[in-house]
Amino acid sequence: MRMLSFLVTAVSAQVAFAQPPLDLPKASIVPGGVFITRLADEGNEPPEVTFDGKRVMVLRSDDRWLAVVGIPLSTKLGPASVLVKDGSATGVPVSFNVVDKQYPTQSLKVAPGKVDLSPEDEKRTADESARIRAALATYSPTAPSTLRLLQPVPGVRSSSYGSRRIFNNEPRNPHTAMDIASPTGTPVKAAADGKVIETGDFFLPGNTVIVDHGEGLVTMYCHLSKIDVKVGDELKRGEVLGKVGATGRVTGPHLHWAVALNQTFVDPALFLAMPARHGKPIPRRNKPT
Ligand SMILES: [Zn+2]
Repeated sequence: MRMLSFLVTAVSAQVAFAQPPLDLPKASIVPGGVFITRLADEGNEPPEVTFDGKRVMVLRSDDRWLAVVGIPLSTKLGPASVLVKDGSATGVPVSFNVVDKQYPTQSLKVAPGKVDLSPEDEKRTADESARIRAALATYSPTAPSTLRLLQPVPGVRSSSYGSRRIFNNEPRNPHTAMDIASPTGTPVKAAADGKVIETGDFFLPGNTVIVDHGEGLVTMYCHLSKIDVKVGDELKRGEVLGKVGATGRVTGPHLHWAVALNQTFVDPALFLAMPARHGKPIPRRNKPT
């Protein structure tokens, strides 16, 4: 029966693969997290999987296909499902349960003009957001060779992904990236092999570079003092794409590093190896935005 071949089992990455054939992100079924599921389909062609109508990464692992799904920070808690295309009109749903994660609130002081925008700046940010969304919608067919990413700059990683943001006492969108404290001029490295698909001097993110790594994995680097690449450049993991800066809406120099899967920004920490500080907690230090 056709349905049976698409029966899937939701598994955590660690449990499913005693010896992982792929370097997967850490699974975390929370808003802003990553859901990894093994598909029962053993065919040679990757099944097409969507979440909220957006194409999901599907990777080969031994004799099976894996779907690696980004969960939007705005996802409601409770049941959710991806759809596996099987030739039917609707596809076969694969359900999972999104559980709660408490994210902190941050209060920040920035230049007033970066919070209460003039009509011209409103228009500019809307246009720039559309460009960024278009870049995130890139789905190139070649899968990344690894989903373990390189931290683009050394420095203290903040745990500010998901935090609610209060700018000058006014609530704004939550933070959907990792901020890494680093001095202006520090080289920023590509987190994985990829192709530059957008660059710009944007009002809120400042100087920005967006890199496509394949199958919907896209990384974004913001507030740069200098951009060293142009659209179309092919980058190797670790290749310098720009320098740390304080352009856009910031309180000081840092890298705002965002990681997207299926057009949604997820927690970059899930894609990094755990910090090598045995037994010592990483100090919490947040640098917006
Ligand atoms: Zn940030």
